[in-house]
Amino acid sequence: MPMFVDTSPPGQCIFCRLIAGEIPAARVYEDELTLAFMDIGQCNPGHVLVAVKRHAANLLELTEEEAGAVLRTARRVALAVRDTFDPPGLTLLQANGREGDQTVFHFHMHVVPRHADDGIALTWPRKEPPFEVLQGHAQRLRAALEQA
Ligand SMILES: [Zn+2]
Repeated sequence: MPMFVDTSPPGQCIFCRLIAGEIPAARVYEDELTLAFMDIGQCNPGHVLVAVKRHAANLLELTEEEAGAVLRTARRVALAVRDTFDPPGLTLLQANGREGDQTVFHFHMHVVPRHADDGIALTWPRKEPPFEVLQGHAQRLRAALEQA
């Protein structure tokens, strides 16, 4: 996971300043709601970040319109990455909260070209609970969605 952590106060975050043009960025694409630019870390060539233009700390602060716009832009960028760098794989990564490995607290999604043995890894500790437990979790979530 990236080690850089942005500690800027709210409203002056590094991505807000980048979007405003106060910090240089290798811009790739933009529309009304999103901006795509090269990640300075470049885990692999063609590694792009898609950020919302309005300051929203994480997924939970996005409007539905912004959420849709982010994936539209990520797909467009992914097609350009395929045509330009032709990686055999591609990973979308979007982190929320420190415990979720978020390091810049302005919503963004990584579009990461992938190659065999490229050193990128995500530990995935499967717990495989009984099916009744899954049904219980699903019931609670359905109830929450009905109230939304
Ligand atoms: Zn911001």
